[in-house]
Amino acid sequence: MAIGDTWPLLLFIIVVLAALLFGQIRQRAALRDWLEAPTQKEIPDGIGPWREIFSRLRRLRKEEQRAYSDLSNTLDQFRLAVQALPDGVILLDGTEHVDWMNAAACRHFPLDASRDIGAQIGHLIRQGKFHKLLESKTQSEPLLLNIERNGSELVLAILLIPFANAGTLLLSRDVTDLARTDAIRRDFVANVSHELRTPLTVISGFVEQFLSETPPGGDTAAGFFKLMADQSARMNRLVADLLTLSQLENDTRPVADEVISMEEMLDDLHSEAGALAEGRQTIRIGETSAGDLRGSAHELRCAFGNLVSNAVRYTPVDGTVTLNWRIEGGCPTFSVTDTGIGIPAEHIPRLTERFYRVDKGRSSATGGTGLGLAIVKHVLTRHQGALAIQSDIGRGSTFSARLPAARLAS
Ligand code: ADP
Repeated sequence: MAIGDTWPLLLFIIVVLAALLFGQIRQRAALRDWLEAPTQKEIPDGIGPWREIFSRLRRLRKEEQRAYSDLSNTLDQFRLAVQALPDGVILLDGTEHVDWMNAAACRHFPLDASRDIGAQIGHLIRQGKFHKLLESKTQSEPLLLNIERNGSELVLAILLIPFANAGTLLLSRDVTDLARTDAIRRDFVANVSHELRTPLTVISGFVEQFLSETPPGGDTAAGFFKLMADQSARMNRLVADLLTLSQLENDTRPVADEVISMEEMLDDLHSEAGALAEGRQTIRIGETSAGDLRGSAHELRCAFGNLVSNAVRYTPVDGTVTLNWRIEGGCPTFSVTDTGIGIPAEHIPRLTERFYRVDKGRSSATGGTGLGLAIVKHVLTRHQGALAIQSDIGRGSTFSARLPAARLAS
């Protein structure tokens, strides 16, 4: 073949090779272009061997996007779970600046998630005890902090837990109720000890005198015995009331379902009040229209008896105590109205607390233990009822034990 005949073939090969080279250069340029901003640009469509490369890249990218979205879903779930925790969680960085906080932390501390991220935690919680803990970073038990929130005081238990590289997790738990229960328990033990110590001191003082070299005799001895008998009776009353209270508190069984004849109960209460008054006060039975009751006869007798005995004890000579058993506001209600000394309004909400007395001296003098209304409240609560107190100083009081209509016997 003459050389002139091969020219067209050569030309054809050169054109094909040039086209292939040009295609390669375009595909490489497309790859480079995509690599410059892989997250913002689409992976180009390739041709020839590039098609396979680009489609693999597309697959890899899809897998990566799926893994990323799984991770971000898991993170969102985790954040939602921490957000919903009843405990406060604050993430601090290595220099104790706030990175993140959950909703409970904002309820516990005066913090605002949109304002306080990035702030130094020591500037946000300004309490010496807390600053010391931040400095020492060692903690054998939770630190208790009292924090003023929306007009009431919270007691918070704080834990600092180091995590990640240099970060710290600050956990807070609201222990206000626990702290209050603990304070009530301590007060109760202190009060019982105090109440029992007084009569015991009196009795042991007299006993010592009788054992001395010059024991008292005659009228003096009789007077001392009378005082000793009074103090023993007071201790007996106190122990009896404490036992009643503890039985009520520890009894987890449902309350007895007896049909109680209110006529008999009112007669009984009337006689008891008469015996206590010894003619100094007039005891009346007013309205008795409410019918019979269902519940624990023993417990309700004890509660109503306490209200009647209080009315007699806090009503001066010539006063009147009236017992009523009627329907008030749709509820069967046992009420005791006296013309006694009355109670200042600020004391009324606290009267059912154990050992709470308006006038300590007067209560002891009238034989009170300070536990009567606590017993009344417990009994009524066990019967789904409530105690209402209305009083005017110097004019008298009405204590009303309201029971639900469902407790009527018929
Ligand atoms: P106490 O044994 O001291 O009477 P209670 O628990 O029965 O204890 O009553 C608590 C306090 O409520 C009493 O100390 C007294 O100050 C006040 N109180 C109760 N009933 C009356 C009443 N009818 N009139 C005036 N004060 C009362």
